[in-house]
Amino acid sequence: MMQLKSYLAGAWHEGQGDRVVLHNPATEAPMAELSRATGLDEALQHARDVGGPALRAMSFAERGALLKRLAKLLHGHREALIEIAIDNGGNTRGDAKFDIDGATAVLAAYGHLAGELGEAPWIVADEAVEIMRGSKIRAQSVLLPRHGVAVHINAFNFPAWGMIGKLAVAWLAGMPVLSKPATSTAALAARIGEILVEEGELPAGAFSMLIGPAGDLLDHLGPQDVVAFTGSADTGATIRTHPRVVAQGVRVNVEADSLNAVVIGPDVGPGTELFDLMIRDCVIELTQKAGQKCTATRRILVPQDRLESVREVLVDRLREVASKTGDPANKEVRMGPLSTAGQLRDARAGLDALASSATRISGDPQRQSFVDVPEGKGWFLEPILFEATPQAALDPASSFHRVEVFAPVATLLPYDGTVAAAARIVSAAEGSLVSTVYTDDREFLADAVAELAPFLGRLVVADEKAARASLSPGCVFPVVNHGGPGRAGGGGELGGRVGMELYMQRTTIQGGGSQLARLLGKSARKE
Ligand code: NAP
Repeated sequence: MMQLKSYLAGAWHEGQGDRVVLHNPATEAPMAELSRATGLDEALQHARDVGGPALRAMSFAERGALLKRLAKLLHGHREALIEIAIDNGGNTRGDAKFDIDGATAVLAAYGHLAGELGEAPWIVADEAVEIMRGSKIRAQSVLLPRHGVAVHINAFNFPAWGMIGKLAVAWLAGMPVLSKPATSTAALAARIGEILVEEGELPAGAFSMLIGPAGDLLDHLGPQDVVAFTGSADTGATIRTHPRVVAQGVRVNVEADSLNAVVIGPDVGPGTELFDLMIRDCVIELTQKAGQKCTATRRILVPQDRLESVREVLVDRLREVASKTGDPANKEVRMGPLSTAGQLRDARAGLDALASSATRISGDPQRQSFVDVPEGKGWFLEPILFEATPQAALDPASSFHRVEVFAPVATLLPYDGTVAAAARIVSAAEGSLVSTVYTDDREFLADAVAELAPFLGRLVVADEKAARASLSPGCVFPVVNHGGPGRAGGGGELGGRVGMELYMQRTTIQGGGSQLARLLGKSARKE
């Protein structure tokens, strides 16, 4: 059995006290164990005192070169990492690649971005402006790395991408990182951390990793620190309102729950590429990672007169996946189990909640037999589809607008095909990460962008012409914003250079125009 260790203040720690056992969720076999780490105050201070100066002594280009090197390093370990993701995460090979390749892609993308950031220790954030008409005094903002530590608290579903994605952005910005993976799937993150430490030639103090529960971590944060959290809305609220976080004004970014919707335009009918794309996307977004994705589709808005055709094809495709749900160690398996017994318990409770507002039309929540798994073993749930009435769809109190069932579960929501109704339904979830609008009707699309976008972090537009090139909405690329308003946490990760602002202080430099031009370069001289 693997023994997972924390890496704190430049040394490996086994932890103390009761051991927590991690399992293979398909077989329920124990596969790793860990204990609670101590000494978090010292670890944070080490990161601030040693890691911060070491990273800030490097130029953006040097930090970018580090990221590119690490992308290659992790890629070299890809096969072994995939095996851990299958074993500890219940991932199919495809799911595991999505997570691990996503991680290396963010490293490479931010490594590449470094080339645009110049040789100065800061980023010039805007153009110089006169502070008042006719004045020689100018003001211009710069971004500089904060002198604290970036604490990354991650969700269980993307142990690689979640950890490395945040790390790439923080390191390019110039902040040291303490990364805390979710405990239940920590084996993959722990191995990645080991590779970084043993083979990554990292600047001293730039990286720390807390394996196991957060303990008193938040009690030691300071005003230059940053917390980037990904997980449930409840934990997000606990972190945001933690007394130390509030008292010290710690900067917090929250990426939380999301009841993502897709809107099928009234013009999209069977027999078109756009219809096929919509079905393909829905199946991917329901079943990839067994539906345990923050960007997974939970609500499918269908024009009432298309309901039958969408239902028929979708149910058929989901049954295909259900017939190939089982132990992901078998390469024929298309969907694996949920990650833990607790996730399965929560998902079943969520299904009961959904049943109060909609009717289950496909999938058996109590199914016990899966491919290559002994009867009753493993934490499996086959794809489940609900359907609501048009009245329930419009009711913001309906459970499918409130409850995120973190599993392969979605609800068909019939609507009258107008943007007004679609906007009422999408916004009823009070803020989401992503929605897709499938349409070739330009007027519908323009109205939909205007009405839906304020409730979303990202809006994917899919039309017949781009159907073949289109990627499913749950793919998040390093250049795009990842986050969403309201319930989704109000955070914003990635988005290229914008993502770095979380880890940097924006400071206005105010002074004589020529002085600013000398100091900050060409953009100041323009004024
Ligand atoms: P979770 O239970 O909220 O846990 C998330 C992380 O917070 C874990 O590392 C957990 O550690 C830690 N944590 C728990 N209590 C804490 C506390 N009091 N102080 C500090 N840290 C604490 O969420 P999850 O079950 O891992 O993830 C599923 C949720 O994440 C879903 O709701 C999903 O929508 C959301 N998610 C959102 C995004 C996004 O980008 N918006 C991405 C992925 C997932 P332990 O594991 O040690 O308890």
